[in-house]
Amino acid sequence: MDRGRLYRTEGLILHRTDFGEADRLLTVYTPRYGLLRLLAKGARKPTSRKAGHVEPFTCVNLLVARGRNLDIVSQVETLEPFRRLRENLELASLSYYVGELIAGFAGEGDENPPLFDLTVATLSRLCEARDPTLALRFFELRALGLLGYQPQLFLCITCQTQLEPVTNYFCPAAGGVVCPCHGEGLPDAVPLALPTFKVLRYMQTHPWDQVGALRISPETHLDLESVLQSFIVYQLERRLRSVDFIHRLRREAKV
Ligand SMILES: [Zn+2]
Repeated sequence: MDRGRLYRTEGLILHRTDFGEADRLLTVYTPRYGLLRLLAKGARKPTSRKAGHVEPFTCVNLLVARGRNLDIVSQVETLEPFRRLRENLELASLSYYVGELIAGFAGEGDENPPLFDLTVATLSRLCEARDPTLALRFFELRALGLLGYQPQLFLCITCQTQLEPVTNYFCPAAGGVVCPCHGEGLPDAVPLALPTFKVLRYMQTHPWDQVGALRISPETHLDLESVLQSFIVYQLERRLRSVDFIHRLRREAKV
């Protein structure tokens, strides 16, 4: 979508770095303009009215002026601070992952309001959900769908027959699940445990209100993570750094 000389947008601050003497450079995800790099002038001065509004994972309303190189934040107001995500290390690591995933898949100009809404809803679910990790898995699966990479979970990719509730195969390179006849011996295909298969299908077809009520065993949780991660890494062609950080936190929590 074309931006005027001065434009308004809702946005989610994904990342900020120091810039110059007192400015901040922001990476902001927006519904209609995709990922934007914006300059918040003077945002590091203690007296700045922008300071409190440009923290990571804050959902904001922005008035932006087109600049020659960088667009400039003219006004900013907080819609939702999502403070808990910055106060709790585990939740912060999950939020960074959400941001990294969005920044990995979305580019400047990528208009996708449903993906923006899903992202904001996910941050609020991370704050409130009984099982924040499940909220993250739901986000991954639904985001892949909204980005045009929906994994096929109902028909065998090779023979197009209805997949049965048995141990099928998961094959990221093929785009989803393959029946036992066609999955065995297929390069990169791994057996997909039935409980994991069922949760994936349930997440693809049911709203969060119902998915959030599921009780997932620790084993299925690890399996869901690894299946979705393999699919994401295949599509992105790289690993995301925050995944390693989440794993490190988890290991340290166990010690
Ligand atoms: Zn088949």
